[in-house]
Amino acid sequence: GRCFYFDETTSTNAFLLGHTSELKSGDICIAEYQSAGRGRRGRKWLSPYGHHIYASMFWRLHSDISKASGLSLVVGCSIVKALSAFGVEGLGLKWPNDIYLEHKKLAGILVEIAHSSAQQTELVIGFGINMSMSAEQGGLIDQPWSDLSSLMSMPDKTELLIQLHKTLKTDLQLFEQKGLGAFLDRWNKYDLFANRDVSLIMAPNCVNGICRGIDDQGALLLETDQGIKRYLGGEISLRAA
Ligand code: ATP
Repeated sequence: GRCFYFDETTSTNAFLLGHTSELKSGDICIAEYQSAGRGRRGRKWLSPYGHHIYASMFWRLHSDISKASGLSLVVGCSIVKALSAFGVEGLGLKWPNDIYLEHKKLAGILVEIAHSSAQQTELVIGFGINMSMSAEQGGLIDQPWSDLSSLMSMPDKTELLIQLHKTLKTDLQLFEQKGLGAFLDRWNKYDLFANRDVSLIMAPNCVNGICRGIDDQGALLLETDQGIKRYLGGEISLRAA
């Protein structure tokens, strides 16, 4: 595999999306700084200098796009596994794709589709992880955030990247063979909202209910007065009620 390393780039996802014809599954792009880090729905990922992780990996699924449903949940499970291997405790997952440390946002995931046909789907899987954020840098983030610096021993960034890369590749292969079902135990172990009252915000609408985990397609299961309803990702935001 190849690694494209930048001191500075606009966004590691954008770089890989611009070079997909040359890429193989597992190729990655890493940057020290992103001038235009991206989140979902046109939102921004704050990406200052300072040993934080900004990385993207290319992946070619041997199936149409319908099989990619739930993949961003796999990426969340995978990052949690890699961080746990470094002794990080207090991690949690928020559907569909945020990673929390002690209930504050530690990392974000952005999966983008580069190309899709009946035979294959090319994906760019981006993730940002806060390593050691100053109050000044973090002051620009409009929700509670955390970083790894509060840990007893801060993981070495290169070793963490190698572990993340290895774990992601293994998990994506498992996902291709077995589907999301192989990750449900891991998801349930880290699911921050399981059995809690939540609001699903689908602007301008909002649905309340009790979170009952996910199904094998990655849909959120919500217990409402009308029974269990399922919701697939995309435009939906989850909040504690
Ligand atoms: P939400 O986290 O509100 O459910 P989302 O999943 O759509 O929304 P993402 O695309 O994962 O959001 O990330 C973008 C949001 O994350 C930003 O709008 C901001 O609130 C927050 N954010 C941006 N940069 C960082 C950062 N470095 N660390 C933690 N949170 C950040």
